[in-house]
Amino acid sequence: MHSSFLSTPLSQGSLLLDGTSTNDSVQKHALPKAAVIFSGGQDSTTCLFLAIKEFGLKNVEVITFQYGQRHAIELQKAQWIAQDLGVKQTVIDTSVIKAITTNALMDENATIEQQGSMPNTFVDGRNALFLLYAAIYAKGQGIHTIFTGVCETDFSGYPDCRDVFIKSMNVTLNLAMDYPFDIRTPLMFLTKKQTWALADKLGAFDYVRNHTHTCYLGVDGGCHDCPSCRLREKGLAEYLEEKTNV
Ligand SMILES: [Zn+2]
Repeated sequence: MHSSFLSTPLSQGSLLLDGTSTNDSVQKHALPKAAVIFSGGQDSTTCLFLAIKEFGLKNVEVITFQYGQRHAIELQKAQWIAQDLGVKQTVIDTSVIKAITTNALMDENATIEQQGSMPNTFVDGRNALFLLYAAIYAKGQGIHTIFTGVCETDFSGYPDCRDVFIKSMNVTLNLAMDYPFDIRTPLMFLTKKQTWALADKLGAFDYVRNHTHTCYLGVDGGCHDCPSCRLREKGLAEYLEEKTNV
């Protein structure tokens, strides 16, 4: 997606103009690293396995956002998985968003429902904020590649899950920090069924099935009724059926 201006190869001279020596720079970039925006759910866990496969366990870390989610279980699951897989986790507090917006994901008393074309679980600006913080952190660590599990298929009409938004944000971040980020969205055009298939291909099907948390209501193992559970279980049933019939 990058124009040539925005995609300066890492090893070229322009990155050396900041005063670091060639050796420092070469060492810094010798082993490319990746950061995964990680919630402990099915999608971001699948992205994590994908990142580990490409970059190696030692070169992958995760960023988890704490933003006043309704349920602490989401954060606990994310922490458990990061520790279990042995990846460094950085938790960033963005709970200020709770003070300036309202929505059903963060309001204990709200009922989760569809409002017109958009579910009331949508948090304005959330992915823009997450990507901005992730990019600031990543640049500080010498990381260029950021994985996010956003997906525009199968779901909901969240405007900041659309491919066009991610591409626009990638350009914005490159310009904002004069640094070539590579935002990866491997699930962008996959259905939930295909995301299960991807986890399976990565050898992580059972892991994702047993250890990830997706329920909006915070029920361990899933409530089987909220939109998030229904989407996850529908995709799983479709994938299992396909697998059995092959
Ligand atoms: Zn649920």
